[in-house]
Amino acid sequence: MANSKYEYVREFEENPTLLPNTFIVVRVDGRGFHKFANKHGFQKPNDRRALDLMNAAAEATMREISDISIAYGVSDEYSFVFDRATSLFDRRTSKILTTVVSTFTSYYVYHWPTFFSGEDQGLSPPLPSFDGRVVLYPSTKNIRDYLSWRQVDCHINNLYNTTFWTLVERGKLSNREAEERLKGTVSADKNEILFSQFGINYNNEPELFKKGSVLYRVVSESFPIHLIQRPDTISKTQAEKQRKLRQKATIQKEHVDIIQDAFWEANPYLLL
Ligand code: ATP
Ligand code: ATP
Ligand code: MG
Ligand code: MG
Ligand code: MG
Ligand code: MG
Ligand code: MG
Repeated sequence: MANSKYEYVREFEENPTLLPNTFIVVRVDGRGFHKFANKHGFQKPNDRRALDLMNAAAEATMREISDISIAYGVSDEYSFVFDRATSLFDRRTSKILTTVVSTFTSYYVYHWPTFFSGEDQGLSPPLPSFDGRVVLYPSTKNIRDYLSWRQVDCHINNLYNTTFWTLVERGKLSNREAEERLKGTVSADKNEILFSQFGINYNNEPELFKKGSVLYRVVSESFPIHLIQRPDTISKTQAEKQRKLRQKATIQKEHVDIIQDAFWEANPYLLL
């Protein structure tokens, strides 16, 4: 582009980059989704359509941004973990953050009618929007602890919400009374309330609700494990080949424990 006397304003731009060789997490979270959920009649405490929609938007995001290696979602939030060695946008913070948030938001709106097809369920302003943040984790332990933190949060909230709404809807307590009843209770107490008062075994609740959702590329003939290596340890040509394979790989969705070692031992290539 031709130079102009205005060109100097570019010097004002700041381009902070993310520390090399660290796991980048972008977490998006629905803005004001408590209200948004009421507006669209989300079922309490878990609306399956809303969770399916979050998963569809996340999968599409992962498909478009192949440097994302794993993603974890619960409620109105999704965490996207990038390859430790990614060089996407030269690791420029704002490029990475804004691209994830806008891609996710676009697909959330795009897929809305697939999951909310009722007559009065069309979107109208205020439209769904998401905030986002970037966090860096330097070690495998740190990134695993991060994901564990989100999954524990899912568990704690879901047990609370399940008990709360059971007390309200089946126990005929007011919201305030249910809150009072649960004040100071630990997990065992909530399990006990569900079981003895309502015959609900919390263990039998859907895994989607209890564990959240994890998305990752599965190893297959077209995505063979021996080709999955840290991009900074292989040649540019090999790295490019690997990138193409990632783009075509199947993205698997599971509702499993990601706190214990089993999941990571079965998929050791996810956090290289
Ligand atoms: P903020 O803008 O600060 O994030 P928020 O209202 O979105 O505010 P969150 O802490 O993110 O607050 O909580 C999201 C809320 O959205 C939940 O508390 C719940 O009310 C609602 N929600 C999100 N997903 C679902 C779902 N699948 N089923 C039912 N309710 C949901
Ligand atoms: P990047 O992802 O790096 O931004 P880009 O392809 O979007 O890559 P830009 O420098 O942002 O590159 O340029 C945007 C391009 O989009 C223009 O060069 C032009 O080809 C196309 N474009 C954008 N708006 C219009 C428009 N209104 N009419 C025709 N073409 C357009
Ligand atoms: Mg442009
Ligand atoms: Mg928030
Ligand atoms: Mg929110
Ligand atoms: Mg939230
Ligand atoms: Mg552009």
